[in-house]
Amino acid sequence: MKIENPNPIQWQFSERAQQLQSSFIREILKITQRPEIISFAGGLPSPATFPVERMKAAYDKVLSEAGKVALQYGPTDGYAPLREWIANSLSTEGSRILPEQILMTSGSQQALDLLGKVLVDEGSRVLVETPSYLGALQAFSVYRPEFKSVDTDDHGLVPSSIAAVADGARMLYSLPNFQNPTGRSLSLERRHELVETCARFGIPLIEDDPYGALSYKGEPMPKMVAMNPDGVIYMGSFSKVLTPGIRLGYVCAPLPLVRRLELAKQAADLHTAQLTQMVVHEVVKDGFLDQHIPTIRKLYGDQCQVMLDAMTEHFPSSVTWTKPEGGMFIWVTLPKGIDAMKLLDQSLAARVAFVPGAPFYANDPASNTLRLSFVTVPPERIREGIAVLGKLIADML
Ligand code: PMP
Repeated sequence: MKIENPNPIQWQFSERAQQLQSSFIREILKITQRPEIISFAGGLPSPATFPVERMKAAYDKVLSEAGKVALQYGPTDGYAPLREWIANSLSTEGSRILPEQILMTSGSQQALDLLGKVLVDEGSRVLVETPSYLGALQAFSVYRPEFKSVDTDDHGLVPSSIAAVADGARMLYSLPNFQNPTGRSLSLERRHELVETCARFGIPLIEDDPYGALSYKGEPMPKMVAMNPDGVIYMGSFSKVLTPGIRLGYVCAPLPLVRRLELAKQAADLHTAQLTQMVVHEVVKDGFLDQHIPTIRKLYGDQCQVMLDAMTEHFPSSVTWTKPEGGMFIWVTLPKGIDAMKLLDQSLAARVAFVPGAPFYANDPASNTLRLSFVTVPPERIREGIAVLGKLIADML
């Protein structure tokens, strides 16, 4: 029998909840998942790279050999052998990372939320790059910080611009490798300078690094956490090197912080799925990623080049863009006065999608910027879509 509600609930959401907003990208994705649209909007990895058979075999093995453990509750900090594997992979000759410093999270997105929860009070100063990862801005926003933007240029974050905003900062959130959204990387010299600057001002430096392994050529750059394990918080993810659907990431932090993060995680979701962690450990423990990652690099590198070549051919000469050496994104700057939101209206009508740049800025959005992803679109569709965009931009000049 259905209960009557004579006194219907007047929903009174918390102030925090009242401020929550859907990410612009997630909204666009709803439109762009239609097959007729050529979408450069997604931040999704290419499903062509997902090692489905390898995962299937690992699920089978884990469930057959250790099903009772895999299906039980597990510890909050994570599955010990996987934490050990991660600690080893982050350790260098000069700097040893301990397994106790690793907290497994449900995607690295959860690590962003936990960091906000334990480091940010309302009005706390949080330093972010210009532009920055939208999902991080969204995660931190829940804790109502005061965002201060730090300058960036073609070599990434400009450490000398920190001094002006350092006072009282609770953290600096940085994306040193193939940044989302710009595809830019921080030069080696700047990495040292950034680590030193944050250490000098006593600001915890967050190094968010989901794309670091995806360099098209050359070796990955040294991690900042190896330069100062006491001052740098490293965030990693299996989303871009295995699959995002398993929601597995981790944070490596100095012990006092990692214990706080663990308490926050305990309150949030007890622990990350034990089965997933055991399966991923089974997949990675014998060096699978060493063979697998080069195939992702090759695919993304080739498709990036196709897009860059098409842009050179079709974009008006007053448009500029980044030339990433890894990762999933190209960042485009249109001539001043051209609004990427308006361009999006027109390009959606022409069945091409991208993400306007404005939502990636914590302060003072540059409305003439946009982000393109090339990883899920086949080469001929990349050429077709870029030709359409080039024509629309030319018409707006
Ligand atoms: N950081 C950055 C820079 C990202 O681009 C993403 C995913 N788009 C994440 C964190 C979150 O990744 P995940 O939760 O899948 O590990």
